[in-house]
Amino acid sequence: MDAFSCTLPVASFNDPELVSRKSKPEGTVVRVNEIPIGGREVVIMAGPCAVESEEQLSETARHVSAGGAAILRGGAFKPRTSPYSFQGLGIDGLEMLARAKKETGLPVVSEVMDTRQVEVLSGYADMLQIGSRNMQNFPLLKEAGDCNKPILLKRGMMATLDEYLAAAEYILAHGNPHVILCERGIRTFETSTRYTLDLNAIPMLKQRTHLPVIVDPSHGTGIRTLVPTMAKAAVAAGADGLLIEVHYRPEEALCDGSQSLFPEEFGILVADLRKVAQAVGRSIYNSKN
Ligand code: PEP
Ligand code: MN
Repeated sequence: MDAFSCTLPVASFNDPELVSRKSKPEGTVVRVNEIPIGGREVVIMAGPCAVESEEQLSETARHVSAGGAAILRGGAFKPRTSPYSFQGLGIDGLEMLARAKKETGLPVVSEVMDTRQVEVLSGYADMLQIGSRNMQNFPLLKEAGDCNKPILLKRGMMATLDEYLAAAEYILAHGNPHVILCERGIRTFETSTRYTLDLNAIPMLKQRTHLPVIVDPSHGTGIRTLVPTMAKAAVAAGADGLLIEVHYRPEEALCDGSQSLFPEEFGILVADLRKVAQAVGRSIYNSKN
């Protein structure tokens, strides 16, 4: 499938060679198993912030699958601000993700925080996530470049787009071309939302790089009631996919419950997203096809 064409003129930035759109004007489609990201179809990834238990994950996975997600998210190794917060279930969490994948058929994306975790994560996840706090963890970027899994590289919360593209270049320069970018909100003077979702970044990145660009409206806002609106805005602005936190019981979540959608809200959002996608000449990827 062709990459969804960039409708804006390619701006003349001096971007690193491998990520620059100049080196590949037609755009890149990254495949997570069979699912193409960066094509005409918008791909929805959803699931809990963290894997917490067998029941929490399998129930949530069942709901997001029924609601229209194509890929299941869930962190087993969690980067938490406080050392006393829930740190994730580690390998046990990865085992639960493997079982949820088997039950639903959804491929899995999960975060890798350390070079020593790349190999083990590669045995369980279909795509490795490098989180905002590790966007400039250069040894980790190099290790991700050495592995053959697709990499979901989130934007550093205080990173410029120049720094972000340079981080992505590390992975490509080390031999892995399968990189997806994810705008997840940046720090600004505004304190009423957790971060400020930088919608500008979507068309700007699409002009500057051939890599697919997805958006995380959950961390970008930090507030459940804002997530659907910003998810729709992201698709309208040209995002190739969305990463959305959903929990079967958000009020009981061990991590990021206040920004996690209830399963019913997620289903309604996906139905709305189909209309927005259609309005901008795209459609939502449907794994049931
Ligand atoms: C996450 O997706 O769970 C996460 C920790 O996100 P970020 O790295 O963007 O904060
Ligand atoms: Mn989270």
